[in-house]
Amino acid sequence: MALAGVVVLSLLAGAAVNYLADVLPHAARGPICLQCGERLSAADYFRWWQPCPHCGRRRWRHGVVLALMAAAGAGLWLSPPKWGFWAVWVVVVYALAVVVMDVEHRLILHSVSSAGALLGLALGAWRHGWAATLLGGVSGAGVMLALFFLGNGYALWKARRAGEPPPEEPALGFGDVTLMGGLGLLLGWPGVWAGLTFAVLLGGAFSVLFLLYGLLRWRRWRLDAYIPYGPFLVLGALAVIWLAK
Ligand SMILES: [Zn+2]
Repeated sequence: MALAGVVVLSLLAGAAVNYLADVLPHAARGPICLQCGERLSAADYFRWWQPCPHCGRRRWRHGVVLALMAAAGAGLWLSPPKWGFWAVWVVVVYALAVVVMDVEHRLILHSVSSAGALLGLALGAWRHGWAATLLGGVSGAGVMLALFFLGNGYALWKARRAGEPPPEEPALGFGDVTLMGGLGLLLGWPGVWAGLTFAVLLGGAFSVLFLLYGLLRWRRWRLDAYIPYGPFLVLGALAVIWLAK
């Protein structure tokens, strides 16, 4: 019975993630189709497996998020990690919201990273105490801030040398800086370094696979392709607290 309750609660959380990911980046006031942005009635919105009445496309991301949340909830309940079921469950919900929005919109909203900072502060202080938590947050934000200036400085320099206008979209957004600050609070010191290491390994492995895919698909190295960093940062943090002993 308890397991069924956890799965139902996880499905509700997954529905909330879907709704926020549809509404927040569009600043919409009600349910909309994530494919075409048209308003949907509550009944149409709820039936994500039906084609959208405006564009005819199916919102399969809703199903993926619900399935992932149900699986994660059941898995955490059956084998609770060291941090306990609820703490990790809440972080999974947050991580999923960040991943969906960053992949779909290349965007980490301030409201989302602020919510993550509050969550990281509360859970971090509980797990590591205030000093280690704050040091973790400062380190996480500091590392990303350094990368932010280095990466965007390099992009500017490259564009100037080629006589081109500066790139419109920064390689690394400021959202990544605030996101990693919140994750640093969550992981504390020295856990923040484990989280960053996982993120670099995951991001590196993904980039190599993506380059190989590009080579097979388009017969060239797609070095210019945009890869969002947010998902790797949250997955790295999640890996650290999931594997914590
Ligand atoms: Zn639509």
